[in-house]
Amino acid sequence: MSIAPGAEIGNNYILSLVPEQELEFLRPHFEVAQLHMGEIVEEARKPVQFLYFPIDAAISFTGRDESGHTVDVTVTGKDGCSGSCVAQGSETSASTAMIQVSGAALRLPASVFKQNVDRLHFLREALIRYNLMLLRHAVISTSCSQFHTGEQRLARWLVAHGHRTGLEAFPFSVDFLAGQVGQRRTEVDALLKEFQKQDLVKLEHNKVILKDMAGLTKRACPCVAKSEEATEEYRRSLMQLATSQQPEGIRPG
Ligand SMILES: [Zn+2]
Repeated sequence: MSIAPGAEIGNNYILSLVPEQELEFLRPHFEVAQLHMGEIVEEARKPVQFLYFPIDAAISFTGRDESGHTVDVTVTGKDGCSGSCVAQGSETSASTAMIQVSGAALRLPASVFKQNVDRLHFLREALIRYNLMLLRHAVISTSCSQFHTGEQRLARWLVAHGHRTGLEAFPFSVDFLAGQVGQRRTEVDALLKEFQKQDLVKLEHNKVILKDMAGLTKRACPCVAKSEEATEEYRRSLMQLATSQQPEGIRPG
């Protein structure tokens, strides 16, 4: 299904900044995809088929061991996209991309991007910058798992997801969360109950509602601020890139 030019594009940060001449070319190739929690849209070391630009879905990039256990490396919401490694000439994905929050995304065939990369200057540059941000997040995640406590990491994970998706309620079971945060189920269960006692979250059946983001941020490790800084720098650099490519008079504000 091809989408009509309009609203959805403006709801993804990268696409909202793509200059009109590139957008004109891209528009007929976009489809709106409805994505469901747990769906895998990209497998590590397999060819990237589509780039997914979330509108209100969230996609997590995960590492997976031989027995299928996964750990969340970072998450993307409407700030970014999956499949961005194709901008660096990679045919295959570096990590598994899994839908973490159901919702819509615009998808673009990776082949369209690769065959037309010469005319997609902004999009290519934007994806390269996005890859740099992902690398920074992966570095932060790695040191976080080595140096910070379970409580700090769980709080950080919840705050980061609140920030990047703009949502307050997540349909996460304890099992799912434990896998994502890379901790034991019993530990995550006890920590969530403790957070609920402190009125930081509210737990419902397979659902975590964030009640006090400031309180959760205090419980989290400094990695929250580091990740936010990386995201902010990425957003600023994309805005500068967009501004430098627009003719005078129609520059984004
Ligand atoms: Zn940390």
